[in-house]
Amino acid sequence: MKIAERIENLGTETAFAVSAEANAFAARGHRVYPFHLGDMNLPTPANVVEAAFKAIRDGKTGYCPNYGIPQLREALAADISASHKMDCRMENVAIQPGGKPVINKFLLALMNPGDEVLYPNPGYPIYESLIEFYGGRAVPYGFVEGDGNFELDLAAIEDKITRRTRLLVLNDLQNPTGAECKPAEFEKLAELVEKHDLYVLCDEAYFDIRYTGASASFAALPKMAERCVMLYTFSKKFAMTGWRLGAAIGPRDVIDIIAKLAVNDESCSNHFIQYAAIEGLTGDPGPAKKILATLKERRDVAVDILNSIEGVTCFRPDATFYLFPNITQAMRNKGFDDYDTARLEILHNTGVSVCTRLHFGRALPGETDFYIRLAYSGIDTDDIREGLGRLKEFLEDF
Ligand code: PMP
Repeated sequence: MKIAERIENLGTETAFAVSAEANAFAARGHRVYPFHLGDMNLPTPANVVEAAFKAIRDGKTGYCPNYGIPQLREALAADISASHKMDCRMENVAIQPGGKPVINKFLLALMNPGDEVLYPNPGYPIYESLIEFYGGRAVPYGFVEGDGNFELDLAAIEDKITRRTRLLVLNDLQNPTGAECKPAEFEKLAELVEKHDLYVLCDEAYFDIRYTGASASFAALPKMAERCVMLYTFSKKFAMTGWRLGAAIGPRDVIDIIAKLAVNDESCSNHFIQYAAIEGLTGDPGPAKKILATLKERRDVAVDILNSIEGVTCFRPDATFYLFPNITQAMRNKGFDDYDTARLEILHNTGVSVCTRLHFGRALPGETDFYIRLAYSGIDTDDIREGLGRLKEFLEDF
């Protein structure tokens, strides 16, 4: 077949290749510790599952409104109003088949070919892929190691704004670094957004995956609601990654376009799953809290072991289920000078499967340190202990 030229510009999630390699290694009879997965090995809460079955039995199996069912839009608007401390109405909500489709629809609605879009790198690889696919210019900004966590490289963002910059992708509580903006950084960013007349995709996939304190949304800053589209997902909070349900939340005119894109694309999100999502939002909060408690325990075990390894340093982010340790010295100790050698040596000698910085974008000019990304959402505490114990033994043997 003669494939359309535009496909040349379509990227992918190269982390899936890591999964394939880990599976092949396991198939040869080796023990694998899956830290590469962004998926969860925790079950969806039973009350949510039951609500889905009930909805099927009740015949919620036909098409439903393109915007999503009104009861869910209302429940989500109420949830967002409370958690974000902002006024969110059901008119601001378009239910989507996952959080990911919001990235696509945000760009289709707001980006013209040639527009520059600032996006995080290292970051979720879909931003760069789709910006370039639709003919935009993907302009990366990075992160710096701050006091206790990674921080947005605000100076780089400011430097890279030109008169063609139109959009900013902000993934606060970030995959893969766990970076989180402080209030002063939000304020500075809001100043830039207003000054340069930018619109923002607030990817809040991890807003509710938080262990201490409360998450804050950039969209809740003064005058920012009218410039922000939020990506919401049911995937993480309710361990529903495979159910595929999320939402775009933003100004009504953009939400109407996003719903129109849905008419042209998937017609509507899965009907009966939306009833399960209502149960998640309004039913017993216990199961979601239990998911968080499990993740927090895993985080602490993983961070403690990682920091005990000679040549490795790791922050303890308050949110997300990812760790992004700096392994520069450990690489030197072992004589590894590229990411793939390090990753494969680690896999083949210890069974520990990780992603590296390069699965989250091309390295930026001047970047000299080495990082790997570990997800602890898909691996139990005992396996974390065992796997990272092996990693420690391997990296300290030089
Ligand atoms: N944004 C980020 C930063 C993510 O890490 C993910 C999932 N890995 C998503 C969006 C999309 O998740 P989903 O489509 O399952 O809602």
